[in-house]
Amino acid sequence: MKTLKDFNFENKKALIRVDFNVPLNDGFEVTDATRIVSAKPTIIKILEDGGSCILMSHLGRPKGFEDAFSLKHIVNKVEDVLGVEVKFVEDCIGAKAEAAAANLKPGQILLLENLRYYSEETAGDKGFAEQLSKLGDVYVNDAFGTAHRAHASTTIVADFFDGKKCFGNLLAQEIESIGKVMETGEKPVLAILGGAKVSSKITIIENILDKVDHLIIGGGMAFTFVKAQGGKIGNSICEDDKMPLALEILEQAKAKNVQIHIPVDTIAADDFSNDANKKTVDITDIPDGWEGVDAGPKSRALFHDVVMQCKTILWNGPLGVFEMESFAEGTIALGNSIAEATKNGAFSLVGGGDSVAAVKQFGFEKKVSYVSTGGGAMLESLEGKTLPGIAAILA
Ligand code: AMP
Repeated sequence: MKTLKDFNFENKKALIRVDFNVPLNDGFEVTDATRIVSAKPTIIKILEDGGSCILMSHLGRPKGFEDAFSLKHIVNKVEDVLGVEVKFVEDCIGAKAEAAAANLKPGQILLLENLRYYSEETAGDKGFAEQLSKLGDVYVNDAFGTAHRAHASTTIVADFFDGKKCFGNLLAQEIESIGKVMETGEKPVLAILGGAKVSSKITIIENILDKVDHLIIGGGMAFTFVKAQGGKIGNSICEDDKMPLALEILEQAKAKNVQIHIPVDTIAADDFSNDANKKTVDITDIPDGWEGVDAGPKSRALFHDVVMQCKTILWNGPLGVFEMESFAEGTIALGNSIAEATKNGAFSLVGGGDSVAAVKQFGFEKKVSYVSTGGGAMLESLEGKTLPGIAAILA
């Protein structure tokens, strides 16, 4: 696996695919700079080597050259975060971009205009990728968030940098963290899958049964398993057509010696709203008109025991409707358990969409080993897929 350590960037121009797809408010100010902060180590390392950085990214989903999606809006924020002046060029290919790249001196940074102003980017167009490739001497991919897309700047461009391409620090860290769970994790290995639907996590469950010793199935997903086994789930979220699959998963887990843990009680609400009436009930006996919206106290205690036994922990998906304060306690309790296990030496990885939001919202970010920066990319990695952006560097 080629990383920044394998290159000396002195007098070299690094063409870096970063993920600066950051949220902007109505005044075009960056409201969350996490992605820029995440790319900083790679950029600084190259500058310290005596190289220069040409940063390329997409921002949103523009239809053509829409000013609202211009990367010019983020230049100041990138400068703030990096503490270095950032030059900006109003195109990502062609004469202007090439001239700006050619004039770049060691220690300098150039930010290119939005890659997705060109439809060729998402189409993975070879000619467009070749034009991008003219800008730098070495290609560095540091954008995990788009590594599952075979776009021109994430994948195809790598073909033009034979022997001169590598992973940036962020992408290398992501790959390493996933590897620690899926391949080299110290046993016992635990995966916690929550969230709304079984259907969106099926491939992950199937892949993960070969990797883990324990699997906690929580959140809305759990009710399909409970009902499939004959439980009464009231109005809880359920995918009836996935019940046979749920039973099959339970059988597979038995055959593979994986211990599956499903909640035993739930916080039931009489309405899907924060100020609904709520009560704790057995998960197999939820009254009609009530729905399970969070893990109950017995389930939290059960999950705590499982988490504390394990040395490697993957967490994907909340245990309840954590967006509503009244139903966030189960997810917070799980975060606390994982934080405690991590403090005791376990490796914990949080990844994929809403669990990352929950971890940030409740302040667990620094208390787990690693929080992934890529939603879709993380999910596809857990499904066992080789991401095109990663394969292109390894090729
Ligand atoms: P996912 O994107 O699949 O990880 O699902 C995350 C969503 O699952 C969050 O928006 C949660 O509100 C939702 N969720 C978790 N538990 C439940 C539940 N018991 N009933 C309904 N939705 C849930």
